[in-house]
Amino acid sequence: MTTQTQLATAAHTSDLRKIYGSGASEVRALDGVTLDLYAGQFTAIMGPSGSGKSTLMHCLAALDTPTSGEVVVDGTTLGSLGDKALTRLRRERVGFVFQAFNLVPTLTARENILLPLTLAGRKPERDWFDLVVDTVGLRDRLGHRPAEMSGGQQQRVACARALVSKPSIVFADEPTGNLDSLSGGEVLAFLRRSVDEFDQTIVMVTHDAVAASYCDRVIFLADGKVVDELTDPTREQILEHMTELQTAALQRSGQV
Ligand code: ADP
Repeated sequence: MTTQTQLATAAHTSDLRKIYGSGASEVRALDGVTLDLYAGQFTAIMGPSGSGKSTLMHCLAALDTPTSGEVVVDGTTLGSLGDKALTRLRRERVGFVFQAFNLVPTLTARENILLPLTLAGRKPERDWFDLVVDTVGLRDRLGHRPAEMSGGQQQRVACARALVSKPSIVFADEPTGNLDSLSGGEVLAFLRRSVDEFDQTIVMVTHDAVAASYCDRVIFLADGKVVDELTDPTREQILEHMTELQTAALQRSGQV
């Protein structure tokens, strides 16, 4: 079995802080997060609402800048890059899957999948495109526009789009949040396969214990800090941890 210490680091944060406001209205969305995310793993980030999951993912994906601390993605320190270099890094080395699919409505599935490459002026690798399309089961939908597809199909297009440029890391923000459990399961199975068979690295924010149970590792946040983690977790273990964290959050806010 591969231990985490033998795995390469795909992304790293060091004492990451994101602070909104000041004085009495100060909110510490991230309060000193030091974390390694490993290559070739499927990692979930979980925690109660407001614990900092989205902020962490946005800082990791170079969609937001931290107040202090460091983010390293695929060996590059984000804070050292200007806007142009950040855009290039996002386009060439990072893939995204969002809860709301974020497809371009006027483009077909094929055009949506190829969009990151089109924008980068790159030609698709034919074999890789075919493999990705067949793995997500979209071969007979390539000419359809998003409105002609179900939510599950649209999210599979979004997954294919995230993978087509062979990114170093894929960030998925509640990718099954808008899907029924059957379609959600298909998307999660595809993400799992892309880690197992294509050696992809995926980091997913989710509040769903079933979704997180597809992962190799679950990192738990509370109040902007990493408070716990599980390796090869079961749904029951995840639920137990989430219940504890949610209860503690309610107690702290005086709601129970
Ligand atoms: P999660 O994704 O776990 O629900 P977030 O990362 O969205 O948590 O938010 C963490 C904390 O930061 C919350 O208290 C939230 O209200 C606060 N926050 C997030 N974005 C902003 C913002 N733009 N301005 C002020 N506070 C914010």
